Amino acid sequence: MKLYNLKNHCEQVNFETAIKLGLGEQQGLFFPVKIPVITPFELSKILEMDFITRSTEILDKFINGEISKKILYEHVKKAFSFQKPLKVKIKKNISCFELFHGPTLAFKDFGARFMAQMIFSLNKKNESCTILTATSGDTGAAVAHAFYKMKNIRVIILYPKGKISLLQEQLFCTLGENITTISINGSFDDCQNLVKTAFNDKKLKKFIGLNSANSINISRLLAQICYYFEAFSLISKDQRKNLVISVPCGNFGNLTAGLLAKSLGLPIKSFIACTNSNDTVPRFLKTKKWEPKKTISTISNAMDISQPNNWPRIEEIFNRNNWNLKNLRFGSVSDITTKKTIKELFKLGYVSEPHAAIAYRLLNDQLKQDEYGLFLGTAHPSKFKDTVEEILNNNIKLPDEINNRINLPLLSHNIDPNFNILKKFLLN
Ligand SMILES: *Cc1c(COP(=O)(O)O)cnc(C)c1O
Repeated sequence: MKLYNLKNHCEQVNFETAIKLGLGEQQGLFFPVKIPVITPFELSKILEMDFITRSTEILDKFINGEISKKILYEHVKKAFSFQKPLKVKIKKNISCFELFHGPTLAFKDFGARFMAQMIFSLNKKNESCTILTATSGDTGAAVAHAFYKMKNIRVIILYPKGKISLLQEQLFCTLGENITTISINGSFDDCQNLVKTAFNDKKLKKFIGLNSANSINISRLLAQICYYFEAFSLISKDQRKNLVISVPCGNFGNLTAGLLAKSLGLPIKSFIACTNSNDTVPRFLKTKKWEPKKTISTISNAMDISQPNNWPRIEEIFNRNNWNLKNLRFGSVSDITTKKTIKELFKLGYVSEPHAAIAYRLLNDQLKQDEYGLFLGTAHPSKFKDTVEEILNNNIKLPDEINNRINLPLLSHNIDPNFNILKKFLLN
């Protein structure tokens, strides 16, 4: 598989290098030189397959022999070894496609676990490596669980002390083994700066085999393409004719994966790009001006991003396919409306959380008569327990994934945002 740097098409790398580098020169994103095509005949066969076999087929089209199909199958099987996504009916023409039944109860498990398998497999030559990453919650948990107990891979996760929920902390700071968690006396930005400083230390980087495993890694996106095919396989022939998928967006990785699925040949009629009040993209689609504002805190905090990293990939997909950005539906939803929508969904018998509720709101408002709509459920409502309970005046039951960890001791270290202290940990 060949990929080029979107900022400099002359920089071309293979899949292995793209995974290891994460980003190209000038922080450019990697993008496949060729987008494979699945013919309608192939598609009908692929849709009949089970989730693991089908996902292997799709990924193999991109990876194109760089990893043998047989080995790829084993990795996909290990990566996706949890409850498949579920389609839950909300009303006649709308269902939620729930992607949150993995070990950390968010859709990020798909991408993080496949990336972990890929890094593990490329790292086989007995080199040890260190994954260093900063998190404000969800990503850290997904990455920690994805790499848990992998040989020769050490994971160090930094997070701002007191600024992630206790449930979040219990989920990934109780693992131990090859997972080290460090709470930093500072903000998320302080954590990110420490990570950047470490990556700028070339000697250190080489010595401990540093990799960031961050969210723009191409392996994560490829993994996420697979569940769009699963969604399609679960709906009726009639519903397939006019399918609209509504995606709650932060960094726009999830939507990028959906558009890649469509590029491959999955006949999705339309997507809705949904944001909260951090609406850089909706404003851009209206005015053609890219004007990020200061990031605002909302109740859908995983979407509190005003400079979405993956946007250049989305523009590239539209260009390459000769699609018009005018056909991308979009919208932004305020906290007040999000809260109302969570109540509205509850009346329909469905307990939701702020991110999925935003996607439902815009889908319900924009869906036309002859269309069928899916909105993506990106996190389990219990991950936002306090917010949802306050809105609904109702208790939410915790699933086993959290219940099993709630009483385990926290194993995190705690340090000041000082690189020399962090460096000691890294060299240990
Ligand atoms: C990360 C996240 C999002 C945003 O996904 P992107 O791929 O960054 O657009 C939405 N909802 C939840 C719950 C998330 O954790």
